[in-house]
Amino acid sequence: MRIRGCGATSRQTRRLVSEISVSLTTPSTGHERVRPAKCETHPGCRASVRPVAHVSGGSADVEKLRRLVRIPTVSLAGETATDPAPFEEFISALAESFPLLHDQLTLHRVLDHSLLFRWAGRSAGDPVVLMAHIDVVPVEESAPWQRPPFGAEIHDGAIWGRGTLDDKGSLVGICAAVEGLLEQDFAPARDIWLSFGAREEISGPDAVAAVAELRRREVTPWFVLDEGGAIAHEAFPGVRPPLAVIGVCEKGTTTIELRAEGRGGHSSTPAPNGPTARIARAVVRLEKRQFSPALTEPTLELLTRIAPHAPAALRPVFANARRLQPVLKRALLAAGAEPAALVRTTMAVTTLSGSPAHNVIASRATAALNLRILLGDTVASVTEHVRKAIADDSIALEVVDANEPSAVSPYDDPAFELLASTIDEVFDDAVPTPYVMMAATDSRFFTAICPRVYRFTPFRMTKGQRESIHGYDEHIGVDAFLAGVRWYARVIERLPQ
Ligand SMILES: [Zn+2]
Repeated sequence: MRIRGCGATSRQTRRLVSEISVSLTTPSTGHERVRPAKCETHPGCRASVRPVAHVSGGSADVEKLRRLVRIPTVSLAGETATDPAPFEEFISALAESFPLLHDQLTLHRVLDHSLLFRWAGRSAGDPVVLMAHIDVVPVEESAPWQRPPFGAEIHDGAIWGRGTLDDKGSLVGICAAVEGLLEQDFAPARDIWLSFGAREEISGPDAVAAVAELRRREVTPWFVLDEGGAIAHEAFPGVRPPLAVIGVCEKGTTTIELRAEGRGGHSSTPAPNGPTARIARAVVRLEKRQFSPALTEPTLELLTRIAPHAPAALRPVFANARRLQPVLKRALLAAGAEPAALVRTTMAVTTLSGSPAHNVIASRATAALNLRILLGDTVASVTEHVRKAIADDSIALEVVDANEPSAVSPYDDPAFELLASTIDEVFDDAVPTPYVMMAATDSRFFTAICPRVYRFTPFRMTKGQRESIHGYDEHIGVDAFLAGVRWYARVIERLPQ
């Protein structure tokens, strides 16, 4: 298939958009335990201001990252209890690795193992929050890792191991930047908070507790920066420069359980239209009544920004993305599951249940429907869509969980511009652009106290590296890590008063 008049094949279009989502994960509520590590009134400000020598990271920082990757801080959901020992070990190792940070910043433990540091700034300007997470997802035994997942071995100029990209690279990158600046007696222009969650991967309550702590202290951040997008190489075929994608919002998510009930009984005497038949009919009707596509503003902005770098055939289409929305929507819908997810709310039937025995008619049948909600839709509106699509009053709908899409952070804004211009400075070949994240991060809870929440991981990643996150063979280039340290340091240095 060709996009009308421009010579682009659907395969090109598909490859084009398959990279836009650089993903990651979730959380929710709880109580907090505050344990200051040192005097709350410590000014942390030993005078000198800029200029400082650039902080670039070095082999010592690489060793610190390797040490922390070796500690298996695996979060486990559900019944299986997470082992607290690695988390305690990680927190101790972090303190040994970054002594100035631990000496000059004040620390609050949030719940059991999450950390919230405050670095006092030189002015009373709205503070900045830099986020990362301590925990990692488990390693599947059958996964064919080429290197030990908790070995942190160096091969081919990269550190291999679970968490190198998601998200200990960022955590250590932030700490190395802060430590390097403290070594030069640097004090930031405004307060900086470091928020390191311990249960990001299992949607734990820690992020909500950290937000509650900041709210209690009447902290209203200027902006919040968490993991998310990356410097994505091979993002678009024919586009040579890597894209520095900065997440400005996240899709929402909800699960709706469909339930049909009836008399049940012996399977030798079935009656028509029983619970299983009605659930099956509902599933088929949903399949036929997909959500309408829409191009969100961040996606339009992304297409516009990459237009000058796109292959000649696609350049005019992207440059005129706003005008050509109908064509683009059709093309993206036709281009496969990933691009389709970019332009509409998706729904997937995940679990089905009926009778527990071969010769028993079910008295109850259920199906779970998991939806990922595009900006513009809401939990209420998608529930209504589902109800209408099913068109069967005998089926009960229950919203099991509900997370609305996050608000869109501004990208025509000095905070976004600070991140983008620092990308230009440190990664001069990359094209900074906003985008919509498909997955969820802890940072969405910070939208409750801050309108500017950005998701960006300052590491160069190939397509294979992005796919290794939550999979196997996760690794970070040593040079990429050190450039990331430099980027965090420059963001901190460049903060205005
Ligand atoms: Zn993560």
